[in-house]
Amino acid sequence: MPLSVSTSDDFDFARCKTCNYLLRSLETDICPECGRAFDPNDRSTYCIQPRERSWRDYASPPPTWQLWFVVGAAMLYVYLASFPLAPNFFLPCLLQIALIVMTPVVFVAYIMRIVACYKLRSDDMPPPNVKKRPRHNWFGLPFLIAVLVSVHIYNWPFALRWSISKPAFEKIVTSLLSGGPVPKSPCWVGAYHVKQIYNGLNEGCINFVTGTSFDACGIEYSLDDLPPNPAFQNFSLIPVKLGENWREFEW
Ligand SMILES: [Zn+2]
Repeated sequence: MPLSVSTSDDFDFARCKTCNYLLRSLETDICPECGRAFDPNDRSTYCIQPRERSWRDYASPPPTWQLWFVVGAAMLYVYLASFPLAPNFFLPCLLQIALIVMTPVVFVAYIMRIVACYKLRSDDMPPPNVKKRPRHNWFGLPFLIAVLVSVHIYNWPFALRWSISKPAFEKIVTSLLSGGPVPKSPCWVGAYHVKQIYNGLNEGCINFVTGTSFDACGIEYSLDDLPPNPAFQNFSLIPVKLGENWREFEW
């Protein structure tokens, strides 16, 4: 990578505003390529060749769009993880694919920035000739990694959303068990938007279809020692138990 950086408005780097022709050491003040006139003493009549990029340009915090990208990715991940069985449906998601492609790019650029900062400091070189960026832009990627790792160790977004919502689910079950009507759906049950509530008590269960936009999964209340709803059993995965009577379920 070139180490020289031109920072001045040196006419050596001047180019024609119309055709980008290099204007230095010409006999006349007319662009030989397109005929546009320029004045070497008037900066507004020509443009400066973009300077060559240097490794030193990386010795600065990541750009703000990368901060928003990683924070957005982390929030999307938390949101998807908060659905029952959602981790099984991450891959079909286009956004997920975008994340898988983009995150390594952002990650590699981040490492390059750290190395460049370290080298700049150890060689005692002048700061990079780039626009100053906020220092907090450094925190984006560590935040995303912390979120990804912590969710894979323990799905806290789901645990949190479920614990907030459980009393509302239990209230509906209590009502149905005592012969109450099935609440109109779609509706909010706790922190979940439930698309459908299915009263299958004569088969031993009550189904709450939450899902993500990609698949119908949800939460099932099952009476003790009864199998999951036989009507759905052929299409179901092995249900994940959430505690007594409650399972994550896919239909
Ligand atoms: Zn020209």
